[in-house]
Amino acid sequence: MKQVLLGCIADDFTGATDLANNLVRAGMRVLQTIGVPEKPLDAEVDAVVVSLKSRTIPPAEAVAQSLNACAWLRAQGAGQIYFKYCSTFDSTEQGNIGPVIDALMEALKTDFTIATPAFPDVGRTVFKGHLFVGDVLLDESGMQNHPLTPMRDPNLLRVLTPQTQQRVGLIDYAVVSRGADAIRARIAELRQQGIGIAIVDAISNEDLFRLAPALADMPLVTAGSGLALGLPSNFSIQPNPRAAALVPASGKRAILSGSCSRATNAQVADFVSKGGAHFVIDPLSLVKGVDAVELLAQQALAWAGSRLGEQPLLIYSTVAPEALQAAQSRLGVEQAGALIEATLAKIALGLVQEGVGQLIVAGGETSGAVVQALGMTQLHIGAQIDPGVPWCAGYVRSSGRQIHVALKSGNFGRTEFFTTAFEQGRST
Ligand code: ADP
Repeated sequence: MKQVLLGCIADDFTGATDLANNLVRAGMRVLQTIGVPEKPLDAEVDAVVVSLKSRTIPPAEAVAQSLNACAWLRAQGAGQIYFKYCSTFDSTEQGNIGPVIDALMEALKTDFTIATPAFPDVGRTVFKGHLFVGDVLLDESGMQNHPLTPMRDPNLLRVLTPQTQQRVGLIDYAVVSRGADAIRARIAELRQQGIGIAIVDAISNEDLFRLAPALADMPLVTAGSGLALGLPSNFSIQPNPRAAALVPASGKRAILSGSCSRATNAQVADFVSKGGAHFVIDPLSLVKGVDAVELLAQQALAWAGSRLGEQPLLIYSTVAPEALQAAQSRLGVEQAGALIEATLAKIALGLVQEGVGQLIVAGGETSGAVVQALGMTQLHIGAQIDPGVPWCAGYVRSSGRQIHVALKSGNFGRTEFFTTAFEQGRST
């Protein structure tokens, strides 16, 4: 059996990719699984990131799924478990961060762990237990208006306390800045006081590098994806390009975009203005239901047919906010979203059957729908294209073939992403 060093549990799909990407940058060979695998691991990797969709489901279900993931990872040899949540600490008074930490601590028979969502590379910093997003506190960042997990208090001790049975303490910046020995001493002190979870301050990557050695013996760490930059050195692993090696890329190239985020709109406009071949999916022609999905997918695939090759082509439903609102008010937000996702997923399957072997998908939900339609359950993580977006390789169940995919969540990527990504971050 192959043994993993670090076992990770991520509470959503794109967050899992983000974590995997940071571990690869720090030198680990990483496999991301979609859900908990049914079989033992058969890949030679240093870390496995199990992606769940547990951020906003009922706490009892999130606990059950996380414990299942933990048991599988431990059975593959993982000596340390990393519970990964969002760098904006997305949770409600009920959870799910607190209940999952409590359950994992019990399963791993440990009385102490740390919690830090800090990810300085993307502006998430923690100071005196308060979470900043860029230059403002969490509750002024827009997250106070989030539809599912509104964050109205930037003090992480106050946020976590009602969610957990553990007492919550702080390892503040004055300690972190003095390095690993000072952090170890503070951990011993907190433990003596009966504290079970310590929020840790970090305002730079150097802080995370100072923290990591003090965590080497902990059965459980909990964090955003920033901590991943420092942990691999505890396993004597240093950054190296071999970590990102994938099977060589081959096959035709295509881009599917169902994201309507600002960054994606700019990327689509850039691709089109540079003369890239493109086909628009208009949701208003989908009103007749499932058959319309089939019809539109066929039209898109017929258009793609002879155009497919080394020059990437773009099939997209991306629209600016006004047009999005117009479609949503005609069709309903959920119905419009579900129909577009079903159409793009069907097109993805058709494109792979037509020989596409390098596929970019824009949009978090869109990526989830495409990966599911392709029957991909495991992704090997390759080199980073842009922050948070690596190339990945995985088997497509229906074709038994491995393809390369890049799954870009809405606001990620530079404006030239679609025209440059196929040549970037390729280690092969
Ligand atoms: P992002 O990562 O940018 O949030 P997602 O794929 O997660 O992108 O979400 C975008 C949602 O918008 C999806 O459910 C998608 O199906 C839907 N959508 C895309 N294009 C349109 C459109 N033209 N009209 C209505 N809904 C759309």
